[in-house]
Amino acid sequence: MGSSRELMAASVDLFLGGACVGCQRPGPALCLCCSSSLDRLPFEAQPSPSPPGLPVVFAVAEYDGVVKAALVAHKEEGRLSLARPLGRTLALSVFGVLSRARGRSADGSAGGSPGVVTLVPAPSTRRTVRERGHDPLLRITRECGRALRKSGVAAVVDPVLRVDRPVVDQAGLTAVERAANLAGAFAVRPRRRLDGRCVVVVDDICTTGATAAEAARATSAAGANVLGVAVIAATTRRRPPA
Ligand SMILES: [Zn+2]
Repeated sequence: MGSSRELMAASVDLFLGGACVGCQRPGPALCLCCSSSLDRLPFEAQPSPSPPGLPVVFAVAEYDGVVKAALVAHKEEGRLSLARPLGRTLALSVFGVLSRARGRSADGSAGGSPGVVTLVPAPSTRRTVRERGHDPLLRITRECGRALRKSGVAAVVDPVLRVDRPVVDQAGLTAVERAANLAGAFAVRPRRRLDGRCVVVVDDICTTGATAAEAARATSAAGANVLGVAVIAATTRRRPPA
């Protein structure tokens, strides 16, 4: 999918003189300096309030600065070469979820050390994908899987979720409205089960957590052991520390 589009994006960078989305310096879509600013420790990014059923959420950055610029340029402007650094960043967040799951299994509660980790991206509506001409999250998730495997984590990508009924655009909705908009909206594809699979739900951004909670619900309902949610960026909609 999208190979001609990819070629086009590469050509734009090469011949028309691309610039770094972070600092605007001429060159690749993300210069070395801005790219290294994405290598950060994952942190727990539970939204507050947290929607019911939302598992642990890890993020690598606030939705701001270089991360925001890169996500927007990749999603909206088709700067497809950004999928790789964004995928690597998402992998750091997955590591956060996995180390938490390992910790839980060490003290005897739920979790366990997963053999194979299945990355399940939150679904986009078919209309959104058609309008953008590509599926940005799936592209990033595939790069994330690649980065994890390079680091020795047995990771597979399974875009098994789909939007099962009409939903409206989440932008502009309150947290309560978002949750209602998405309640029961996702399902695994027909004839698919995830019994016993260790799943990390992945998304680009976590705002109210409504999308992640619904994706976790749908994957759990199909039999998965959902270890947590990994996102690249979290909005600052979290209760400030007391
Ligand atoms: Zn830069």
